[in-house]
Amino acid sequence: MIEASAILKGRGQVVEPAIQKKLDNLIRACHDHLPNVDEELVRRAFNVSHWAHRNDRRATGEPYIIHPLAVASIFVEQIGFDDISVAAALLHDVVEDTDLSLEFVRDAFGESLANIIDGLTKIGGAFSSHDIGQAENVQKLMLSMATDVRVIFVKFADRLHNMQTLDSLPRAKQLKIATETLDLFAPLAHRFGFFAIKRELEDLSLRILDPELHEEIVSGLRDFQRERDSYVEQFFEPIKERLNEDGFEFEMYGRTKNAYSIYRKMKRQNKPLDEIYDIFAVRIVLQNKDERGKEDCWRVYSIITDLYRPLPERFRDFVSLPKSNGYQSLHTTVVGHDGKRVEVQIRTQEMHDIAERGVAAHWKYKEDVSDTDSEMDKFLTWVRDLLDNPRPERATDFVQDFRLNLYDEEIYVFTPKGDLFSLPTAATPIDFAYLVHTEVGYHCIGAKVNGKMVPLSYKLKSGDQIEIITSKKQSPNPDWIKFVVTQKARSRIRHFIKEKRRRSAKLGQDIWEKRAKKAGIVLTEHELGRYASILRFPNVLQMFSEIGTGHLDVKELLGAVKGSTTSGDAHTDEPDGLRTQFETFLDTAHSSGTPALMIDGELHTDILTQYAPCCNPIPGDDVFGYINRTGGIKIHRVSCQNAPDLLLLHSDKVVKVDWSRQKDVRFVSGLRVMGEDRVGMVSELTTVISKNLKTNIRSISIDTEDGIFVGTVVLYVSDLTHLKRLIDRIKRIEGIHGVYRFEQSQDES
Ligand code: MN
Repeated sequence: MIEASAILKGRGQVVEPAIQKKLDNLIRACHDHLPNVDEELVRRAFNVSHWAHRNDRRATGEPYIIHPLAVASIFVEQIGFDDISVAAALLHDVVEDTDLSLEFVRDAFGESLANIIDGLTKIGGAFSSHDIGQAENVQKLMLSMATDVRVIFVKFADRLHNMQTLDSLPRAKQLKIATETLDLFAPLAHRFGFFAIKRELEDLSLRILDPELHEEIVSGLRDFQRERDSYVEQFFEPIKERLNEDGFEFEMYGRTKNAYSIYRKMKRQNKPLDEIYDIFAVRIVLQNKDERGKEDCWRVYSIITDLYRPLPERFRDFVSLPKSNGYQSLHTTVVGHDGKRVEVQIRTQEMHDIAERGVAAHWKYKEDVSDTDSEMDKFLTWVRDLLDNPRPERATDFVQDFRLNLYDEEIYVFTPKGDLFSLPTAATPIDFAYLVHTEVGYHCIGAKVNGKMVPLSYKLKSGDQIEIITSKKQSPNPDWIKFVVTQKARSRIRHFIKEKRRRSAKLGQDIWEKRAKKAGIVLTEHELGRYASILRFPNVLQMFSEIGTGHLDVKELLGAVKGSTTSGDAHTDEPDGLRTQFETFLDTAHSSGTPALMIDGELHTDILTQYAPCCNPIPGDDVFGYINRTGGIKIHRVSCQNAPDLLLLHSDKVVKVDWSRQKDVRFVSGLRVMGEDRVGMVSELTTVISKNLKTNIRSISIDTEDGIFVGTVVLYVSDLTHLKRLIDRIKRIEGIHGVYRFEQSQDES
């Protein structure tokens, strides 16, 4: 193995004269076009690339290094950003196509260059596994993977060179690449304002996709240009005179549309070629390098419209309101001699550079390049802002306006087969599973991301490769509701829970009716509701459902009905008494305890209070009271998912409540603990809980599946502070990924 330092220095490598010449040209171009150049960096990048690709050939048979060299040259001349990008262009295929690792690049060239290469490699992979049916998605994927915009910039240069050298590939491959270029890269180049690159990509694609029409357009354009040039000459004459008088330095020339935009016009307007060139287009670029560029544009506009009559409806001011990609220019159409319409664009040289080379041109106009790194950071942030906040565009004649939500809002993940799915930010494997198919969601038991097991609450990232593990025995867990973010997953899980509860309620009702018949009890709907309330269920359905699932013994209800004539109200009992009485359904985490509540500022012990099982409030929680049909008060947490409905729709039944200070009252609360399944996890968990703040565990149940540990712990806490401290401690256990308070105990079954 050759040493890295030798490779970097190019020691022992023989560089062919033709290649050496290209390298020399590249270095010269760097000095011409870049604000400052670390020549050594570029040379070292070349040496590494030259060595890594030493055995590779292009389809044309040439040495492979020709390609990265050409990409770097295109980059310098057409994008001209910085020397790190040039080095990245030289190295862009190294990790993907050769034995050289990303670590090598990182060690040799540092973090930021390695990140660019990593982005380029990932994007390369994304392309090989997709067809471009989802062009817009793939485009977004590219952007989201490119945490550094230089990745995209290098990719443009790479694609342009590939398009320029497509001829040696088989026809089928040419068509695929050309289509992809037209659908994906050209609009994306437009988005960044790389108009020159966009036009070249489009024309090269058209040449492949419709060679005959392309040829017709190109030769037609040549004829048209000759005719136009003589007309434009006369048109310019008086303008030139006036501009010279006023001391302007300027360039003025006839503008040619590119072959592809003419092609599109022919298709869209269904017109033959010669009818497309109805309007002459010219451009005036002001060379004066002073601050008054914008004013100058207006002065020139005024001179031109003195000489020729303008058509006001064709006027556009992109100088005061630049387009989202930074484009600035004044557009006007005037009537020339013989009544011909002439489209005029007026702009400064700086505006022109930006129009041709997009955002990268801004870099050229940065004055202070002493602190390159922080300047670059500022610039990259600026690019992102620019792309994130598109200003409304008035021009409608542009190809396409992709509204890209860069870096936020959406992520893109792959299946192991390479299919692409888009999900909202913070989406989890469960969301993904439901997106793939409802059945996959229902039976989802675990997930692998990039080959490793992750918790089902794992937040997916762009570029993740995800695989869902299913089991026929698995069914949706109500807890999933808490971390899923997609509407589809949420509604399917809710539906499942509802269905399940409906079935168990039906079963519970059957059980009850048999027992009631035997005991000779007949209850009205209203009476049943009252007993449900006494037994602390939100409604009859829930009570029956608990009987159906076996969480409530039917004898409890029977006992309550029989005892109701004598004992009245069970809820002023001491906590211990309560515990005994309701032991059988404490597992469902209903709160227990005396009503330790201040209602409208007064302490009440005589009102029947219930702690809403949808959110299990404990002292310290922000709460409110809701007067239910039976006249009791149900306490909800303000953060309860039912709170908005209750507070807004039934505000007349809401009362203000507060916790009063009561000692030695314990409330039941539930925690869901997730983590890695490892030896000793359960004992450590129980030790941490019981040793801290003398917490008693009511019940604990553990599920492990594919290395994932999910524990459900029901415990007695005195208040929120107590619970929070406990959560803090549990989080510190090695291998624990998350501790969540669970709020919807009635969904447990
Ligand atoms: Mn390449």
